[in-house]
Amino acid sequence: MSQYYFDTENKSHKPFELPGARPHYNPDRPGQVEHIFLDINLDIPNQSYHGKCSITLTPIRDGINRLTLDAVNLNIKSVQVDEVSQNFDYDGEKLSVQLEQPTEANKRIVIAIAYLVEKPQRGIYFIKPDKHYPNKPTQVWTQGEDEDSRFWFPCFDYPGQLSTSEIRVRVPKHLIAISNGELIATQEDGDEKIYHWSQQQVHPTYLMTLAVGDFAEIGSEWKGKPITYYVEKGREEDAQRSMGKTPRMTEFLSEKYGYPYAFPKYAQVCVDDFIFGGMENTSTTLLTDRCLLDERAALDNYNTESLVVHELAHQWFGDLVVIKHWSHAWIKEGMASYSEVLWTEHEYGAAAAAYYRLLEARSYLAEDSSRYRRPMVTHVYREAIELYDRHIYEKGSCVYHMIRTELKEDLFWKAIQTFVQDNAHKTVETVDLLRAIETATGRNLLFLFDQYVYRGGHPDFKVAYAWDADSKLAKVTVTQTQATSGNNSSSSNLFDLKIPIGFGYVQHQSQVDHQDNPPLPSHLTPHPKTFTVRVHEYEQSFYFPLEEKPQFISFDVGNNYLKTVSLEYPVPELKAQLEFDPDPISRIYAAEALAKKGGLEVVKALSCALKKDPDWGVRAEVAKQLAEIKLDQVFDGLVAGLQDSSAHTRRASVEALAKIKTQESYQAIQELLQKGDPSYYVEAAAARSVGAIAATGEEKLKEEQVLDLLKSVLDQRAGWNEVVRSGAIAGLAEFKTSEAALNLVMEYTALGVPQPLRLAAIRALGKISVGQNAANLERILERLTEISQETFFLTQVAAVTALGQMETPKAITILGAIANRTPDGRVRRYSEEEISRLQKNIGTESTLLQLRSELDQLKQQNQELRSRLESLEARSN
Ligand SMILES: [Zn+2]
Repeated sequence: MSQYYFDTENKSHKPFELPGARPHYNPDRPGQVEHIFLDINLDIPNQSYHGKCSITLTPIRDGINRLTLDAVNLNIKSVQVDEVSQNFDYDGEKLSVQLEQPTEANKRIVIAIAYLVEKPQRGIYFIKPDKHYPNKPTQVWTQGEDEDSRFWFPCFDYPGQLSTSEIRVRVPKHLIAISNGELIATQEDGDEKIYHWSQQQVHPTYLMTLAVGDFAEIGSEWKGKPITYYVEKGREEDAQRSMGKTPRMTEFLSEKYGYPYAFPKYAQVCVDDFIFGGMENTSTTLLTDRCLLDERAALDNYNTESLVVHELAHQWFGDLVVIKHWSHAWIKEGMASYSEVLWTEHEYGAAAAAYYRLLEARSYLAEDSSRYRRPMVTHVYREAIELYDRHIYEKGSCVYHMIRTELKEDLFWKAIQTFVQDNAHKTVETVDLLRAIETATGRNLLFLFDQYVYRGGHPDFKVAYAWDADSKLAKVTVTQTQATSGNNSSSSNLFDLKIPIGFGYVQHQSQVDHQDNPPLPSHLTPHPKTFTVRVHEYEQSFYFPLEEKPQFISFDVGNNYLKTVSLEYPVPELKAQLEFDPDPISRIYAAEALAKKGGLEVVKALSCALKKDPDWGVRAEVAKQLAEIKLDQVFDGLVAGLQDSSAHTRRASVEALAKIKTQESYQAIQELLQKGDPSYYVEAAAARSVGAIAATGEEKLKEEQVLDLLKSVLDQRAGWNEVVRSGAIAGLAEFKTSEAALNLVMEYTALGVPQPLRLAAIRALGKISVGQNAANLERILERLTEISQETFFLTQVAAVTALGQMETPKAITILGAIANRTPDGRVRRYSEEEISRLQKNIGTESTLLQLRSELDQLKQQNQELRSRLESLEARSN
């Protein structure tokens, strides 16, 4: 049935299910897989291998005479059971073995399959140098999750089957082979070497792995267990810099989860052209080599540290405790993502963790508002890989945080430890987490799961406040705006939560003009007086008798519940909250609310916070909010942000200044770009921003001059992951009517250009296309058609991104071809989403563009007038 597709126009959220989505169940089990033994001979020059896969199975019942295994595009040579040849059928996807001897319950059999694989498209990847990239390393690596192990060995390929495993592989002598578990033997044989790995702990097929390359090996250990980093030779220092905290993280997680790291070693292998950030194969995580940081990147890149702790967390959540079905993947992805928050808290403090959590929440909120809304647990999809979205990662993390909030610190960890201990080396579903919580704490959190896990969405709160001086009553009105109106028919959209509301009082010292004061020392931060109220109706007003008027109000003290919030407080209360609320997230919400009010007073308050707030996350957000206020006085506040000690704040200030498209903002950023910044990301933002201001600003800057500047960046600033030069490409993409800019971008889409830079150039073709003449548009389409023939995952994604930004029906045709051809479920889904978006946009787009430019002109005139007015008012006061 495809009933989902007829009523989408009236819904605010698009459906998650695409045509063809259907329920997915684990198959019936013929028995328990006990052991999988892969014996493989690699022929790297020919991108092929032959091997034997032996599966030990304990049948669950008598009389099974046919076994069906997953095996895609393998060349099956023979099938034996207990060394007796068997008849089999193979259709390229399923291997069906006709058993000569029907099974006897509990009598073990060994199914041995001899097979050959040539130029595989999935599951196992051969990386090698070519004429365009002669320095590319020679590597072989695998990627099983979710259902790709069947592309490299025949198996019962679903996570409900756990078994021990063993991989023996023959490789050229100069290469190292790494796999799950322990290295139990090596043997040299002429020019070749055999590595024999064995894992005694049970795990599912999707976590079996093999990585082969000429790696440098850097060793460390945790409680006698080897912790090893494998990287391309020459990057040993980067490896230490990027993964060096692993032993401490292992200690931290072992302690928090109440279960010592369960496997005999932990290896992290950084591989070339990896198609994910990282993959938590049991005891052998693979990581993209792009995560390796040089000294400068380590200044403000926390992604690598987060990636390392995320994959390590999976060694418990995912590998030790295995999900029984993909529909419950949020249990592991949510916890791995929440462990990023936990590690941030441990390593950088509570404020940094709170900000990290806000960024995670926003990432989910963006998907919810722009892509689709879905329950976190669903088994209706086309391909399991579609489930790996911002719902199960970031929203999942927020759900774990709400569980922690509900249970409080001690009971939360007791529940988590009970869950891990009770389910170690087993499979779980969502209900098992609820059970563990109940076992450990007596609490039934089904109400929370019902609202946040089993159905889509979150509350959107509007909070208003008024003070009644005569009766000394604070009135707080909370509206759940996600429910369309106050009537009962929408009650299913309502959330029912107990939310703490705090009232903040500030000591006298702080009321002195803050401009001359240093930030408050932490012992002076006010502790709000807190009341917890049940919020469950469309609109509720709460009255709080207080001894004196509070300076500020904190809705959801601690900001522990996943929500959006719009604060409708008077300016003085918002200013006090921005300055004094101890919770950085509350200060950010106050900054957002203030920016909506606008005015010179607000500009002053935000400019002050940008200078003085103790947390860089708040300062960065304040910079962003300042740019929302259309007054010329904003510039002075923002330009100060360029001197901030935190690279994140400097970057946010550059991006904010880019929205003020004036000669002054151009000048400030251009100077920064020429002078350089310690951070790659700040320089990249500056390069992008000079383009953005020059191409669309009021002040007409000489296009030629700006293009020269960006060209000089492209010529001179090659470096780590090409972050800076990719910024320059993004800057060029702003020149939507410039053929010269297009020609430059085109140059960088050529094969041979370093991959991250080339991908940036491919993506930029979309943005720059919208103002180009017909001939240039044809050139772009032609180029993207060529590029879309390339099979590498990231190239395909870049091409789809570019096509999705174009405004021509021809882009739809190319996207359709990609969707039909790609072997990757993510690329297919992404292409189809872009197609439907394009179909909607084309037509309305051209008229909109014209309106938008007229509107921009009006806004600019209005801003000048208002700025003059505000100055006049300020003077007359
Ligand atoms: Zn993960």
